[in-house]
Amino acid sequence: MAATEEFHPGFKCSSLLHAEGPLRPDIARDLKLRVEMLRPDPRLVALAPDGRALALYEDAKRTAEALKQLSAKDATAYPEFVRVLAQVSAVIGEVLALTPPEIDKPSAGDAWGMLKAGKKFRSLGRKDMFRLLRWGPMAVADFVAEFFETELLRAAVAARGIFGTTFGPWSAGSTMALLLHAAADPHPAGPSAFPRGGMGALPGAIAEAAKAAGAQVRTGADVAHVVVKDGVARGVVLKSGEEIAADAVVSNADPRNTLLRLVDPMHLGPDFISKLQHYRCRGTTAKVNLALGVAPKFSALKGSDAAARIHIGPEIDYLERAFDGSKYGRLPEHPYLDVSIPSLLDASLAPAGKHVMSVLVHFAPYKLREGTWDSQRDALGNTVVKTLATYAPELPGTIEGRQVLTPLDLETKFGLTGGQIFHGELALDQMFTMRPLLGWARYRTPVDGLYLCGSGTHPGNGLTGASGANAAREILKALR
Ligand SMILES: Cc1cc2nc3c(=O)[nH]c(=O)nc-3n(C[C@H](O)[C@H](O)[C@H](O)COP(=O)(O)OP(=O)(O)OC[C@H]3O[C@@H](n4cnc5c(N)ncnc54)[C@H](O)[C@@H]3O)c2cc1C
Repeated sequence: MAATEEFHPGFKCSSLLHAEGPLRPDIARDLKLRVEMLRPDPRLVALAPDGRALALYEDAKRTAEALKQLSAKDATAYPEFVRVLAQVSAVIGEVLALTPPEIDKPSAGDAWGMLKAGKKFRSLGRKDMFRLLRWGPMAVADFVAEFFETELLRAAVAARGIFGTTFGPWSAGSTMALLLHAAADPHPAGPSAFPRGGMGALPGAIAEAAKAAGAQVRTGADVAHVVVKDGVARGVVLKSGEEIAADAVVSNADPRNTLLRLVDPMHLGPDFISKLQHYRCRGTTAKVNLALGVAPKFSALKGSDAAARIHIGPEIDYLERAFDGSKYGRLPEHPYLDVSIPSLLDASLAPAGKHVMSVLVHFAPYKLREGTWDSQRDALGNTVVKTLATYAPELPGTIEGRQVLTPLDLETKFGLTGGQIFHGELALDQMFTMRPLLGWARYRTPVDGLYLCGSGTHPGNGLTGASGANAAREILKALR
């Protein structure tokens, strides 16, 4: 999903996700990755239709100072929120690096890992310990209301709990999704780092590191099925018919794609298959990429602030309404948008003086009640442009090209079951020991020698590298 493509002659863009997870620094170090990251400050600007803008800077004090114009109470609360979010999510961070424990017979290693996490939990102190226990299952709308009174701030922070999910801000458990992302980056704005050259530069760097370590990388090699002999994975057969033998097969395609499409069901058993069929993968995210003749002008933004991620979804109720229709298979009239204009920081992405705009759109349901995605593609693109025009009135007249990727495109073009951007919903019942299934959260599968290492395994919280690093550790142990 981390890809850079030319979507209009001369205009390149991160096809799907536009901001780094962030990749865990120790993983980037281990792999000796060479990628130049561009980091705007502020990280995020949230826009209101009445012309107000709220900037979340790298520095909490600077943000608090700016917040004084909106609310003295929120300006005071913000630094405490930054502190507590970092502290509480660090405990979850400890768990993200663990292989989920064996449920029936936890090993000494499992016990040690959980003990370390428990110690970190205790170190929070009584007040924050209770907070963490209370917040996880809560609706993110209630969570942000415990700290802030300004709707624009509440909505900008809460958005991370509903991004890529089937949750609105009033859904129970949406705070856990926020905390899971905060464990990777506790800044209330979420990550805002763009690789030079677009997101494709990141897998490009990983490929270089792999080659330097002796790997051979082949792209455009569609796997048709996994070869299983005597219950053990022995390699893969490509669509071309070529067979590649292997001691282990490791898949970062999502669990349903890997196991229900590429493995003969007779190797899995009916109980496992039935459980995996119930692993939820309902996509709600679409992507719109725009080629612009000039730099867009947002009425509320000054100077270089447009280089930040731009949040459009000014109130909690706006976000909830954007989500509402998706339950009934309808497109939102006023979608929640996460926008970036990476060409403001990286001129290589567009012809001189021109720009690309990358827009993540919520909530676009994978299953439409009326019509098909082919018939609704333009309607979605038009709604996005109309919404953007509320904040940047001249923008529609500057569009030279447009790409609309629907949740169905995410499935057919990028192999995401149901168009689910995290390879399976990040809901409380699909996390940790239950990701993807209870009893199968340790990167192994019912087929010996076939492993999962992608986002559909724990922790699966975006482009952080954590699922892959945990899987690598387990696979190395097994191969030894
Ligand atoms: C629109 C969108 C926005 C996102 N925004 C964010 C964000 O802001 N922050 C964040 O951290 N994360 C975000 N994500 C999620 C992030 O992209 C994923 O968490 C991350 O890419 C997962 O990496 P992966 O290697 O597990 O899986 P993938 O990137 O999905 O890689 C799986 C690969 O397997 C390939 N494949 C599938 N089937 C086969 C087959 N049969 N044969 C050969 N190859 C196959 C696919 O083509 C793909 O290249 C977003 C995703 C999307 C779609």
